[in-house]
Amino acid sequence: MKAAILVDLNQIAVKEVSDPVCGECEMVIRPESVAICGSDVRIYRFGNDRVFPPTVIGHEIAGTIIEVGNKVTNFKVGQRVVLGADVPDMDTGRNYTLKGQGNLCPENLAIGYQLDGAFQQKMKLNENTVKYGPIVEIPDHVSFDEAALAEPLACAIHGFEMARMSIGKSICIIGLGPLGCMMVELTKSYGAGKIFAAQRSEKRLDMARKFLSAVDATFISTEEEDLVERVMKETNGEGVDVVITAAGTVKAQEDAIRIVKKRGVVNLFAGLKNQPKLEIDTNLIHYKECTVLGSHGSNQPDVEKAMTLIAKGDIKTKKYISRYFPLDDIVEAIEYHESRNGMKVIIKPQQ
Ligand SMILES: [Zn+2]
Repeated sequence: MKAAILVDLNQIAVKEVSDPVCGECEMVIRPESVAICGSDVRIYRFGNDRVFPPTVIGHEIAGTIIEVGNKVTNFKVGQRVVLGADVPDMDTGRNYTLKGQGNLCPENLAIGYQLDGAFQQKMKLNENTVKYGPIVEIPDHVSFDEAALAEPLACAIHGFEMARMSIGKSICIIGLGPLGCMMVELTKSYGAGKIFAAQRSEKRLDMARKFLSAVDATFISTEEEDLVERVMKETNGEGVDVVITAAGTVKAQEDAIRIVKKRGVVNLFAGLKNQPKLEIDTNLIHYKECTVLGSHGSNQPDVEKAMTLIAKGDIKTKKYISRYFPLDDIVEAIEYHESRNGMKVIIKPQQ
């Protein structure tokens, strides 16, 4: 079988490797559609302290179970499944695992990080993943391509739930990459009131505007105008109930804390990489009695909800896919992702 091995920074080699050997408590998946995540690109360019090359990355996965160990009883060969990325760790994170908060386990085990990813033709799931991992069946009428985006959608859902998003609340999403756009669409499922969608680069903003034409959102170019001024003006100086930063910049985080309403919630969703530290007058938080929290990754119930929304057609993930690449062209696919000319890129490992 073929695998795209991340050998070192900026170095992926697609080569023949031997098939995984399935232990009696393990399973083997044939990945059919695997989306490239921004974090895959960051791992490829800058590395990650949870990724140890040589390894295989890729964690937005839809595939088929092709081998099941003889002690595995809850899955069978032929099942079509999606995987969440964060895997609970019963060894070192028992309490979090039992509470359904696997993304908080001490080592934050994740597929495509410490665990084998899906940019390969067969991937093995170890015993812990088979027992406790977020593995969700794909309904028959949903394609692998559509299902592959359940993982990022699950992260968006997790972000909304952490931010206590609910009917009637106003919301501002800062950053309109694929995840930010998914969040803007997700506001419909959560019955949002007024919706603001902010983005700095004009190219992305134009794309998002066309892309999200069905959502009644106020689009704001933070290149052209001051986000804080505009949102405050549009909300009679009150601000919004929920602000989610889907752009990993200090500026987005600062603005978020400024535009959140009294008693509102800010979710610092996007992590900061190579950015200065946030310096903020904490009296803003004190006097507004607002909540500033974070969220990362997802858990099994989030993946299930994502699959439900995709299956119902509430979030049409297909339209997020801009291009498809075979496994051999994975480097080209990463470079296309970096060009920011499209939304999501799908790798087809079997082609
Ligand atoms: Zn991802």
